[in-house]
Amino acid sequence: MSEAVVIIGAGQAGAQLAQSLRQGGHAAPVRLICDECHLPYQRPPLSKTFLAEYRDPAALFLRPESFWRDKDVSFDLGTVVGAVEPDKGRITLTDGREIPYGTLVFATGTSARTLPVPGIALPGMFLLRKIDDVVQLRPALNDAQRVVIVGGGYIGLEVASVASREGRAVTVLEAEDRVLKRVTGPATSAFYDRYHRERGVDIRLGARLTGIEGEARATGVRLADGERLPADLVLVATGARANDDLAAAAGLACQDGILVDEFARTAAPGIYAIGDCTRFPSRRYGRRVRLESVQNAIDQAKAAAASILGKPQPYDPVPWFWSDQFDVKLQIAGLTDGYDAVETIGDPASGKFSVEYRRGGRLIAVDAVNDGRAHMMSRKRIAEETAAVVEAAQA
Ligand code: FAD
Repeated sequence: MSEAVVIIGAGQAGAQLAQSLRQGGHAAPVRLICDECHLPYQRPPLSKTFLAEYRDPAALFLRPESFWRDKDVSFDLGTVVGAVEPDKGRITLTDGREIPYGTLVFATGTSARTLPVPGIALPGMFLLRKIDDVVQLRPALNDAQRVVIVGGGYIGLEVASVASREGRAVTVLEAEDRVLKRVTGPATSAFYDRYHRERGVDIRLGARLTGIEGEARATGVRLADGERLPADLVLVATGARANDDLAAAAGLACQDGILVDEFARTAAPGIYAIGDCTRFPSRRYGRRVRLESVQNAIDQAKAAAASILGKPQPYDPVPWFWSDQFDVKLQIAGLTDGYDAVETIGDPASGKFSVEYRRGGRLIAVDAVNDGRAHMMSRKRIAEETAAVVEAAQA
């Protein structure tokens, strides 16, 4: 039987796992298989500095090629895993090759969601998830005066800030009644709404896209209220879905995310899952969560490495995340869902403030705007205040 650790997906989580296995003394082959053609890279700059400055993609690589060579970690890039057969301990690539594994790890990430509206596949329509998306988006952005962004979440607003700073006319279409609704509370949303509008971004709330205008390429969008907005470029930034189809087809339990326990184990022996593609139990927050963050990709990968190395450590993080828009840094610690009390500390008009969310008197999340110190302290405070919940759940 093979001893190899085979990792599907060479993103942030897959790369961290390979590195942690070697750091932990794992001597068996470690093989990363990925459909993208680049060495593992950071995605956050894709909607921030990399889009704005557009340098050599190698600038995004987490490690140079020599690092992986020295660690004896091998890559199959531009290679798609088409099937997994847990009972046979092997995977099949879409090019027909079969690869046996001793341990298998899904680190397949997410895919950008698209929308089921007419014209969505026309040239001039863009998604943003990969380096190759920016390679297409950036030149189109250079030629665009009118940019429509569908989705007022992190990625949509980050791209809006880049395009607006470049002097382009930007409209953001948000179906909900406020921007960033999925990730934060009303005060933070209101701050970002105002900040963008004051810099010329046209934010349309409650705006539902019903179709894309144009014959040979996108020339605008149609909204449910009948309005038509002209556009030279349309970016769809409506969130992401877990890449869990492969796992589901292999018989693993999935619910928009591969279900794993606190040790990153699936129910199938020798099969783990890490990063954006997983849904795991959070005792801290009393439910299963699926996170899309660098913190989660790194820390869950470390937990999986510990499990594979036979030293399991339960993973139950205080999640954290950041977003850069214009000259404002938002840092979010914890998860806001289910709060019953909220307090704004400082004056949003000053551009530096934080918002604290509590449930049952305990601090569960903090948004810190331009306040790195408040963010760092809040991670510690949330960990302490939610620790009792974790202990009670374990008792
Ligand atoms: P990924 O990095 O997505 O890697 C998964 C890889 O697996 C991909 O290359 C995928 O193509 C590949 N794959 C999938 N299926 C197969 C298959 N069948 N065969 C072979 N390969 C396969 N997080 C933050 O914390 N802060 C930020 O500011 C931030 N900004 C972001 C901005 C953008 C534009 C994007 C897209 C993401 C951002 N994120 C941010 C999220 C963060 O990048 C992700 O949480 C992180 O990359 C997840 O790592 P991962 O390894 O789980 O998945």
